[in-house]
Amino acid sequence: MPTSRARRTPEAHGPRLAVLDPATGEPFDQAPDQRPDVLDTVVARAHAAWRGWRTERAARTTALLAAADAVEAAGNDLAPLLTREQGKPLAESYAEVARTAARMRYFAELDPGVQPIADGRPVRSEIRWRPLGPVAAIVPWNFPLQLASAKFAPALAAGNTVVLKPSPFTPLATRLLASVVSAALPEDVLTVVTGREPLGARLAAHPGIRHVTFTGSIPTGRAVARSAADSLARTTLELGGNDAAVLLEDVDVERIADRLFWAAFRNCGQVCMAVKRVYVPAPLHSEVVEALAQRAKSTVVGPGLDPASQLGPLNNAPQLARVERCTAQALADGARAAAGGHRQAGPGYFFAPTILTDVPADNPVVTEEQFGPVLPVLPYRSLDDALEAANGTGFGLGGSVWGTDLDRAEAVADRLECGTAWINHHAELSLAQPFAGSKQSGVGVAGGPWGLYGNLRPFVVHRPEET
Ligand code: NAD
Repeated sequence: MPTSRARRTPEAHGPRLAVLDPATGEPFDQAPDQRPDVLDTVVARAHAAWRGWRTERAARTTALLAAADAVEAAGNDLAPLLTREQGKPLAESYAEVARTAARMRYFAELDPGVQPIADGRPVRSEIRWRPLGPVAAIVPWNFPLQLASAKFAPALAAGNTVVLKPSPFTPLATRLLASVVSAALPEDVLTVVTGREPLGARLAAHPGIRHVTFTGSIPTGRAVARSAADSLARTTLELGGNDAAVLLEDVDVERIADRLFWAAFRNCGQVCMAVKRVYVPAPLHSEVVEALAQRAKSTVVGPGLDPASQLGPLNNAPQLARVERCTAQALADGARAAAGGHRQAGPGYFFAPTILTDVPADNPVVTEEQFGPVLPVLPYRSLDDALEAANGTGFGLGGSVWGTDLDRAEAVADRLECGTAWINHHAELSLAQPFAGSKQSGVGVAGGPWGLYGNLRPFVVHRPEET
C-alpha cells in the first residue's frame, strides 16, 4: 500500500485491465477498464468543479504548490510503481517524479498577467486571460508522469479542470499521482479515467471538453483531431519525432560519444526527442560506428528495479514487435549490426542496444519512427546532402549538430527544420522554453508561458477614456 497522503478514490467496480511488468511480460496488477459511458458523469463533474476553481489564481497557486510537495514526498511509492509498469531504471523513475513536481511548481507560479493594448487610440484596452473549461489530457506510456504533468500543470494553473487518460499500458503510477495531487485540490478538479479504446476517442470527442491536449503518435494525433472536430474544442498535439544528429568534420568523437549514445538510447530509445538517425562525414564514419557500438555492447540491460541496469525493457509487446520488425527488415535490406540487432533471450521485452551501418537511406529504420534502442549511422559526402536528408521527412520535432567550432555548428543548426535544435547535446529541455514540433510532429505550443496561454483564451475589455 502506498505510504503517501493520497485521496481515497472509490474503486470502480466492473471490468479490469491487467497491467504487465515489461521485465517479465507477466501481469502484476490491475486498473479499472472504464467504458466510455462514464465520461458524461466525469465531464459534468469536471464542469461543475470548474466554477469554483477558475475564480482565484492565488488559491490555485497555493493548492498546486502543496500538491507538488505531496508528489515529491510520494517519490518512494511513485518511482518503483512507475518502473514496474513502464520498465525504466529506478533512478530514471525518481528523476521523472522530480521533474513532475518541478513542472507543477513552475506553472503554479506563472502569472499570465494583463496586457494593455497600446495603439494610439483614446481607449483603454487590455487583455485579461480566461480559462477554457474542462480539458481532456491524453498521454502515452513512455513518460507517464512527466507527460501527464506537462498537460495538467499548465491547464490547472490556468484555471481549467482536467480529465486525464493515461495509456492502458501504464495506468497505475498515473492513478497514484492523481490521487496524491487531488488530495491537495478541490474535488473533481483533476480526474483520471483508465481503460482501453474507444475511451480516448470518446473523451476527445466529448461535447463538454473545451481543449484536447494530446501526446502520442502521428496517426493517433490525426484521429484525435478528427474526434475533436465536431465540438470544435481547441487541440494541442505533441506527436512523434525522428530526430537527426548531424556530426561535422571537426567533431571530437571520443568527447561526444557518451552524450550522443545516451541521447539515442535513454529510456530504451522510447523518447519522442531521441536521436533516431546519425549523419556522419564519410571519413569519420567507421570511428563513430566503433565508438557507439562499443558503448552499446557494454551497456547493462536488465530489469529496471535492478540497480545495475542501465537500460530496461521496451514497454510492451507490440512495441517490441515493431522494433524487431523494423530491425529485421533493415538487416534483410543489407544493413549490418555493429552491435545488437536482436531481442535478448529470456522473458520480458528486452532488445539489445543496436547500432546499424550500411543502411539504405530510404529504409524504414531511417525514414520512420521505430521508437526503440536502434540507431542507424549514415555517412555523408557533403553537408548539403546531410541536411537535405535530415530535413527530408515529415517529422520535425528536434535535431542536433555536433562539432568543435561552435559558431559553425550553430550556423548549421539554424538550417534544421524542427522545433528545437541543440549543439553538442540533444533533448535537453527547459521548463521555460516553448515546446513545439514543426511539420507533422505537432500542432500548438506547450512549455513555458506559451504552454499556459495554450490553456487560456484572451478576453479583451475596451473602455473609453471619457463617458
Ligand atoms: P499512441 O498514439 O498509440 O497513444 C497515445 C495515447 O492515445 C494513449 O493514451 C492511447 O491509449 C490513446 N489513444 C489511442 N487511440 C486513440 C484514439 N483513437 N483517440 C484518442 N486517444 C487514443 O502513442 P504511444 O504508442 O502510446 O506512444 C508513443 C508515441 O508517442 C510515439 O509516436 C512518440 O513519439 C509519441 N510521443 C510524443 C511526444 C511529444 O512530446 N511530441 C512525447 C512522448 C511521446
